[in-house]
Amino acid sequence: MALIESPLLQHLEGYIGGQWVPADDGSTFAVDNPATGDTIAHVAAMGAAETERAIAAGQSALRLQEPYSIETRRGWLEAVRDALLAEQDEIGRILCLEHGKPLGEAVGEVTYAAGFFDYCAKYMDELKSHVIPERPKGLEWTVHYRPVGVVGLITPWNFPIGMIAKKLAAALAAGCPSVIKPASETPLTMIAAFQALHDRADLPAGMVNLVSGPPAPIGDVLCDHPEVPMLSFTGSTGVGQHLIRATAHRVKKLSLELGGNAPFIVFDDADLDAALENLMANKFRGGGQTCVCTNRLYVQSGVADTFAAMLAKKVSALKVGDGMAEGTEIGPLISQAGFDKVRRHVQDALAKGGELLAGPEPKELPASGSRFYPPTLVGKVTPDMVCCHEETFGPFIPMAVFHSEEEVIARGNDTEFGLAAYVFTRDEQRAARTIGALRFGHVGWNSGSGPTPEAPFGGMKSSGVGREGGVEGLFEFIEAQTVPRGDQ
Ligand code: NAP
Repeated sequence: MALIESPLLQHLEGYIGGQWVPADDGSTFAVDNPATGDTIAHVAAMGAAETERAIAAGQSALRLQEPYSIETRRGWLEAVRDALLAEQDEIGRILCLEHGKPLGEAVGEVTYAAGFFDYCAKYMDELKSHVIPERPKGLEWTVHYRPVGVVGLITPWNFPIGMIAKKLAAALAAGCPSVIKPASETPLTMIAAFQALHDRADLPAGMVNLVSGPPAPIGDVLCDHPEVPMLSFTGSTGVGQHLIRATAHRVKKLSLELGGNAPFIVFDDADLDAALENLMANKFRGGGQTCVCTNRLYVQSGVADTFAAMLAKKVSALKVGDGMAEGTEIGPLISQAGFDKVRRHVQDALAKGGELLAGPEPKELPASGSRFYPPTLVGKVTPDMVCCHEETFGPFIPMAVFHSEEEVIARGNDTEFGLAAYVFTRDEQRAARTIGALRFGHVGWNSGSGPTPEAPFGGMKSSGVGREGGVEGLFEFIEAQTVPRGDQ
C-alpha cells in the first residue's frame, strides 16, 4: 500500500505554539497499517528540546491574572466539537488504517470523542466561582476554580481519538494549555485531529501542543518540568506506576486511567439472549483491545452449558479481516506482541486444563507475520490461569462456572485491577449486593456498555486514580482556590 494521503495529513509533524514543526534533527518513525503490515507514514520523532518548547508555548497561553472567561472556553469546546464532527469520516478513515478496527467503529469513535467537548461545553457553568452560603468566622468565603497550569496528556493506541478527547475537553474547560504525546502506533489520528482544529477552531496559539516521538525523552521532561504541575495518562498500569515514581519529587497531580481485567458475570436468572448480545458487543469491540473489554466470563452452573453453546456458535461466526473491508467485525491486533500475548494466554489456559469451545489450537496459528487472531472461547477456566490475572487485550474469552454469589464476588475481585465489571441478573436484591461488593469503578447491570461523556469513568485499585467524563471529570484539571474575605 502506498503511503497514506489525506488533506488532514499534510504535516506529519508536531504542533507547537500554533505551528507545524518537524523534529529538530529531522528524524522520523514509521507508522504501520496492522492489517497489511505496510508502512503508511513517517512521523516526526521529537524529543526533550521540542517538549521543552511545547511547554513554553503552553505557558505563554496560560492566563492566570485575567483568566479566559467561561464563555470563551465554552466557545473553544464547541469549536473543537464541530471541527471533529465536520471531519469525522476522514479522521475515522485514518484511525481505521493505523489501528485496524472496523471503519464504522473508527468513525463512531470520532463521534464519541466529539461528545466529550459537547458535554463539557454544556456543563461549563459548574466551573463558575461561587460564594458559600454560610459565613464561617464572620467572613465571606469565595471558591474559585483555577486552571492547574500547563498539563501533559499521554494517550494509548487503542482509542487514538477517544482517550485524548476525555482529557483535552476537561483541560480546555479548565483553561489549561496542554502538551500532548500520542501513542507511537497511532499518531496519525491525533495529527489529523490537530489539523482539523488548526483549520476550524480558533484556539489561542500554544493552547494545544503535539509532540510525537519515543516515550522516554518526552515523558521524562513532562515528569520533571516544574511548570507542568499535572500529568493525565491513559495506558498500562506499569507505565502509570513509572509516572507516579518519576513525578514524586515534584509532587505532581496525576490522573491515571490504567489497565483492567473485567469480569462478566451471568447468574442463573439472567436473560441469556441479552447477556449474549451484550457480551459479544463488549468483548469484541476494538478486537478485544479495550480496557473495559470482558477479560473473564463467569456463568452460574444452572445455565453454564446452555450459555457456552450459544456463545461458541456466535464466536465461531465472527468475521475477522481488514477494518476497511465491508462486513469486518474484528480487525487485526495492533502488533505482533499483541498477537503473541493472546496466544500465550490461550496456550496457558489449555495447558492448565481448559477446554477449547471455539477457535483454533494455538499451535495451528502461524508463528509470526499475522496479526489476525481468530476469536477463541475456552471453558473450564481456573484461577491459576494467566488470563485471570493479566489483561489479555485480544479476542479470547476464558469461561468459568460458578455456584454461589459469594464465590463469584470473590473470584471477580481476585485481581489487582478495578476498572470495569458486568453483572447479568433479573434479581434486584442480588444485583445490589453484587455490585456493591465488586471493587470496580464501572459496573454494568444487564448491560455491557462502556463509558459515555455524561458519566464519570475511572478505576479503583491498580486501574487508576481520578475520573473522566461527567461533572466529576470537569474538575480533573482544576485547583480550587478559597478566598475568605474580611470586612475593610
Ligand atoms: P502503554 O504502553 O502504557 O502506553 C501508553 C502511552 O504511554 C503511549 O503514548 C506510550 O508511548 C506512553 N509511554 C510509554 N512509556 C512511557 C514513559 N516511560 N513515559 C511517558 N510515556 C510513556 O499502553 P498501551 O499499550 O498504549 O495501551 C494499552 C493499555 O492502556 C491497556 O493496559 C489498557 O487497559 C489501558 N487503557 C486504559 C484505559 C482506561 O480508561 N483506564 C483506556 C484505554 C486503555 P509510546 O506509544 O511511544 O510507547
